[in-house]
Amino acid sequence: MEAESQGSAIIPFALPKGAEKFCELCQREARLQCSKCRVTFYCAAEHQQADWVGIHKRICQLLVPIRALTLRSLQQTSHTEAQIKKAELIEICRLVAQSKLSEGKHQEALPAAQLCLRCSIDVHGPNTVQLVPAYLLLAEANMGLGNLDLVADFLSQAEWAVLKSPKCGLTIHHQLHRSLGRLHVATGDLETALHNFANDIYFATEEYGLDSTVTSRGYFLMADVFTKQGKMPTVRSLYSEVARIWHRHLTRHLETRKESIQNPPVDSFYDKAERVEVDEMLRTMLEFEQKDTRKDPARIAVVAHCLAMLSFLGGDFLKAQGFGSTALQASQLIPDHDLTEPIQALLQLVKILHTVPHPGSAESQY
Ligand SMILES: [Zn+2]
Ligand SMILES: [Zn+2]
Repeated sequence: MEAESQGSAIIPFALPKGAEKFCELCQREARLQCSKCRVTFYCAAEHQQADWVGIHKRICQLLVPIRALTLRSLQQTSHTEAQIKKAELIEICRLVAQSKLSEGKHQEALPAAQLCLRCSIDVHGPNTVQLVPAYLLLAEANMGLGNLDLVADFLSQAEWAVLKSPKCGLTIHHQLHRSLGRLHVATGDLETALHNFANDIYFATEEYGLDSTVTSRGYFLMADVFTKQGKMPTVRSLYSEVARIWHRHLTRHLETRKESIQNPPVDSFYDKAERVEVDEMLRTMLEFEQKDTRKDPARIAVVAHCLAMLSFLGGDFLKAQGFGSTALQASQLIPDHDLTEPIQALLQLVKILHTVPHPGSAESQY
């Protein structure tokens, strides 16, 4: 059971004289404080609850030494120690916001993303490139909530910070362009979106390589724009690139997994959120291939095989079997197709693990 959030009225004499307290979420005057850490304040129970779910339950006790420090004196804890704690706090906030975003919980991601920004400003100062990850998280959360004005606002602050730091890393450039591209897709400015995705791919390639799965996401986003523009041949070639990258990537991971087949497949390699995202992407592509007038069985086989491997690696054998069969059917339509054998091998593996239940697979079987 998770601990419940608890608020109590602020005890005025526990605070330094004249120190007015503001709500953690909306910065309005606070009337409540967290009864566990006593260093976090809220305007009302509603905001306390939202913050608790969003981030506070993860960091409540971590905040005590950080915030007690500002309330009391600076001498009790060394400056370095405080900086380390703050860096830790920023990292936790970033990870929590990121994982909520990948689960599609945009509203819940906001408290963590907001605190990430506030702490980053506190540690690195305003307009620094270190704030960009927080801006990108806030932009993504607001994108999910449909607040496009706020997205544009956060992204332009991120752009400004990047512009001012010429030594800023490639990853930041790639992420910023990806976010800008998605914003322009949402506002309907497809040409600008394409321009941003092209930059996204350029920087991702520089950092991760041409064959990286990170780069492939850029191709996929670009294909989405070309779909909107009705440029199907381009969509087709981008999807084929994405499928090629993922097929290689998953095949490699399946190989290493086979070596330790006695151990049930677990979520160790892909976290669940990432798997959901990749699964969605591959399904879009499979649907495209199946609806395509050309109905190329080789392409259907590759994408379905990817989905089968992904499901297998995630321990979902039923799904692996379903996609495996689709892949097998397609691959048998092409004589001497080099996929038939690996697909059959995968299906065999699924069968073995399916009939010998072990703790790791029990849940996904039923
Ligand atoms: Zn509030
Ligand atoms: Zn607390």
